[in-house]
Amino acid sequence: MTESWGRYPAAAHAAEIPIAWRSEARLPPQRPVLAFGQGRSYGDACLNDGGTLLHTFGLDRFIDFQAGVLRCEAGVTLRQILDFAVPRGWFLPVVPGTEQVSVGGAIANDIHGKNHHRAGTFGGHVRRLELVRSDGRVECAPGDPLFAATVGGLGLTGLVTWAEIALMPVPGPAIEVESIPFAGLDQFFTLSDESDARSAYTVAWLDVLSASHRGIFFRGDAVEGGARPPRLRASVPFDLPLVNGFTVRAFNAAYSAANRLAAGRKRVHYRPFFFPLDGIGRWNRLYGKRGFLQFQCVVPTRDGIRAILDAAARLHAGSPITVLKKFGDLPSPGMLSFPRPGFTVAIDLANRGEETFAHYQRLEQLVMVAGGALYPAKDARMSAESFARSYPRVAEFTPFVDPAFSSSFWRRVSR
Ligand SMILES: Cc1cc2nc3c(=O)[nH]c(=O)nc-3n(C[C@H](O)[C@H](O)[C@H](O)COP(=O)(O)OP(=O)(O)OC[C@H]3O[C@@H](n4cnc5c(N)ncnc54)[C@H](O)[C@@H]3O)c2cc1C
Repeated sequence: MTESWGRYPAAAHAAEIPIAWRSEARLPPQRPVLAFGQGRSYGDACLNDGGTLLHTFGLDRFIDFQAGVLRCEAGVTLRQILDFAVPRGWFLPVVPGTEQVSVGGAIANDIHGKNHHRAGTFGGHVRRLELVRSDGRVECAPGDPLFAATVGGLGLTGLVTWAEIALMPVPGPAIEVESIPFAGLDQFFTLSDESDARSAYTVAWLDVLSASHRGIFFRGDAVEGGARPPRLRASVPFDLPLVNGFTVRAFNAAYSAANRLAAGRKRVHYRPFFFPLDGIGRWNRLYGKRGFLQFQCVVPTRDGIRAILDAAARLHAGSPITVLKKFGDLPSPGMLSFPRPGFTVAIDLANRGEETFAHYQRLEQLVMVAGGALYPAKDARMSAESFARSYPRVAEFTPFVDPAFSSSFWRRVSR
């Protein structure tokens, strides 16, 4: 059974069809359909309960590379691109916290990374793409309304078969990273302001259980010279539900202590800096069969993010990986893009049924009060009302939804 990364909710697909050739990609008669990339969305944005999934992993070919612009099929992963590009002196302009993401998925969620304050979102670097829709094939580019609907369009405007992405030059595989412990949100705000002005990449890890909001701030830049890629890659072989209040407390204390000891500057390979979790394959099994929810929001103000983090600490949100970042103010290109100026936090919540859903809803309400938005790539629970409030351009977007396409997420939020 195909699952999303959070393994919640379950979906039973009527058919799952692999697409092997972009030239032959046409929509099957079993409707509704939805493209599926690498399934790294946490909730139901990549699921189509009762419908058909079009698996794109076979669309994995590079087509052209000239003057830093790469044209590739939509099932190519960001890892494939980096393996090809870095030795040639190029890097992806935007990468998320895992490189196991397809180009189609990166476009459909208009993903962001640690350099949002400098580079904006992934879609801002896409020069052109091709869509297969129920009425035929069409190419579109920035400036076309269909392009603005497709970037961040949750796979609902058609099947992306290929895209052109402008890469950025990079001196090599090394990142010089500085880690700085902080003791509360005021220190985080100060560090963000000063670091965003000087560093390309900034992000913070937060001990979400600590009422004081302690954490570690990371800032980094690509630098000349070599760096050795990590060699060991472990994998969780079966469901091993180890994440609970006790282990999270122990992990947070150990992670915080280790980073305090190792605080300062060091040079690392880009993989552990950008994709630390990729070092452990199938780590989502650590939450057991019931899986977990990831709550990611953006809110415009410092008071708003403080209220959410205070509530998360009170709810004992047992999240080992809580990531906090200030978004910049570069406009996102998609009608439904998630990033906007403000503070974003991502909190993992082990799925314990109704209790967890109630916690999620409490946090969701605070986001709405703060005038913020929830991220569909991570979401499995937001209400239709919260979606409409998070995405005021949804009425402009809806006419671009292809009638052959739908998703579990879309049916939930567009009621
Ligand atoms: C460990 C981890 C860290 C992450 N960190 C970040 C982060 O820092 N920033 C961030 O923004 N996101 C992050 N994500 C989320 C991830 O980047 C997105 O969910 C991304 O969209 C997943 O891509 P995918 O290829 O797995 O697509 P899927 O999850 O399979 O699908 C996602 C959406 O893309 C659509 N889609 C896929 N392929 C196509 C296609 N060819 N044509 C049309 N639509 C298509 C699907 O229909 C679906 O709506 C993270 C995820 C994980 C697991």
